[in-house]
Parts: sequence; structure tokens; C-alpha cells
Amino acid sequence: MPDQIENLAIIGSGPAGHTAAIYAARANLNPFMYEGYVKGGSAGGQLTTTTDVENYPGFPDGINGPELMQLFRKQSDRFGTRMVGEDVQEVDFKNRPFTIRGDSTTVKAHAVIISTGATARRMAVPSEEKLWNNGISACAVCDGALPFFRNKPLVVIGGGDTAVEEATYLTKFGSIVYLVHRRDELRASKIMRERALKNEKIEMVWDSVLEDAVGDEFVTGALLKNLKTNEPRELEAAGIFYAIGHTPNTEVFQGQIELEDTGYIRIKPGTQETNIEGVFAAGDVHDHKYRQAVTAAGTGCAAALEAERWLGEKGLA
Ligand code: NDP
Repeated sequence: MPDQIENLAIIGSGPAGHTAAIYAARANLNPFMYEGYVKGGSAGGQLTTTTDVENYPGFPDGINGPELMQLFRKQSDRFGTRMVGEDVQEVDFKNRPFTIRGDSTTVKAHAVIISTGATARRMAVPSEEKLWNNGISACAVCDGALPFFRNKPLVVIGGGDTAVEEATYLTKFGSIVYLVHRRDELRASKIMRERALKNEKIEMVWDSVLEDAVGDEFVTGALLKNLKTNEPRELEAAGIFYAIGHTPNTEVFQGQIELEDTGYIRIKPGTQETNIEGVFAAGDVHDHKYRQAVTAAGTGCAAALEAERWLGEKGLA
């Protein structure tokens, strides 16, 4: 067990975690960060799985996702954030100071910011690994405007609000957008449903699932199966966008902190506070609405400012 008690431990190293670290370090809180691997992924969060990021302000020519996260990390490091490339295996938020146990280190901390993000669900079709980022994406807002999708048929998989939102967004770029849903009724809210059904550039493909992506280096089509008739159908497509939901990375916090039914961390409206005083959440681990790098960074900043204020009020830092 460690003797030293940290002021602030940050769990997760995406835009939310690093922004929190930059603010906390500059406020002399000397933060300690668990960078995490997110179950076999990599430190740095979801941006490390994308290519060009064209909507992060300050980079008018766009920037590669992993490169952007390297810059975030460098900035955290510059102000003295201590980082360890381990996943967190267990936390104890029931006793103070809090305990965070990583793969091989254990840390005690007065305050914690959780920024472990979320993972876009994948379909696990046979060609997925090969064509990931080469036409298959889990984020239309991130990738939809890339040149190789322009004026080409595109496919969105899913039937929720995200699927409709992404399909609608993609109509700006694609020649047609096929919205492929496994049932014959959308899950999306009424207003979004109506929007999709009215849009002339969106063609619904009901009762169908993706069997595989077609293409050698880049996606050239989507192989579907109709679940009612078992009929296969191949659509010509330059892009396949998964919108089948995200899974928040909160497994390790179950039983320690209040979660929503969907697994996302519940925060108090208008704050980054969780139900445990001194534990804050930032980024996609609580935000299932916007899910953008820049909004995650914004909440990371807010969480650090709230943690700093709370530690000050309690006379802990
Ligand atoms: P949802 O869980 O609401 O929807 C996921 C969709 O993917 C469902 O239609 C589901 O089908 C389908 N799906 C899931 N797994 C598979 C699979 N293996 N194969 C094929 N299809 C699959 O996720 P969303 O990301 O759409 O939304 C998450 C939350 O965020 C919701 O509460 C939503 O309202 C909210 N949101 C709000 C927005 C807004 O207000 N503007 C924008 C985006 C999201 P089925 O319906 O059959 O279960």
C-alpha cells in the first residue's frame, strides 16, 4: 500500500483526461494519471482509432487522431502530470482517501476524475479489421466529410437516434445513404424517425443485417442479409458507418458509483460531480449525447476546475 496520498488521480487518457490533467497540473495539484489500455486498445482513447480529425478547432488542415493525442499527452507531461500506462482493475470509493488499483500500482487519492470514455460497438464482420478506417467507421461526424466518401453511396447500420443523425449528416456528402436496420421500425425518437423517412437521400433497408464489408483495400460494398427472407443483398457503397451504440467503459466502477441504466456515469446536472463527493466524471464516460473530442476536452477542464475547488474547500490541497 502506498504511503503517499495523491491530490488527484485521473483515470483515462483521452481528450477529457488530458485536458483535466493540463488544468490540474497547472493548478499545482500534481495529478497522477492511469492512461489505460481500454481492454486491449491503446492509451489515448477513441481518437487513436481514427485517421483524420478535421473538426478539432485549432487544426485548420486537420490532424491525424493518434498525433493529436500525442500532443495532448505532451502537454500534460510538460506541466508535470505523472502517467502510468496501466488499466485500472479496482477502485474503492467507499473509504477515504480513495484507492485505485492498477495492473501493478496502487494509488491513494483525495479526489478522482473518471474519464475512461466509451467504446463504439462493432459488428465483428469478417472483413472488419482489414477495412477499419478504410471505409468502415463508427463515427460519421468524424469521418463523413473525407474525400473518398464524396458523391458515393454510403451505408449506416443501426436504428437509433445516432443512426438517423449520422445518416442525415452523411446525406451532405454521399450520393445516397442506405440506413440498414435489423427490424422494420426505427428505435429513434419520433422527430428523428420522421426526419429520416422524409429525407429523399435516405433509403431505408429494413429487417437487414450486415454480413460483411466488400473490398480489398477500401470498402466497395456492403453484403447484407434480410432476416425475414434470408435473402442476401449486396449494395455498392464506399463507406459503412456503424451506429449500433456505444458501451461506456464503466465496468470497473460498478457498485462504487451511481451509473445510469445504460451504464454511463450519472452526473449532477450542470456539474461534473458524481454521487460520490470528490469523484468527478468527464467526457464520453458520462456524455452519450455529443461524444466529440472537443466536448470531452471541455468537460475535462470543468472537472479539473471543480476538483480543484473541492480540494481547496476541504483543505486537502
Ligand atoms: P441505441 O442503443 O439507442 O440504438 C442502437 C441501435 O443499433 C438500435 O436500433 C439497435 O437495434 C441497433 N443495434 C444494436 N446492436 C446491433 C447489432 N449487433 N446489429 C444490428 N443492429 C444493432 O444507441 P444510439 O447510439 O442510437 O443512442 C444512444 C443514446 O443517445 C440514446 O438514448 C439516444 O436517444 C441518445 N442520442 C440522442 C441524440 C439526440 O438527441 N440528438 C443523438 C444521438 C443519440 P434495435 O432497435 O433492434 O435494438
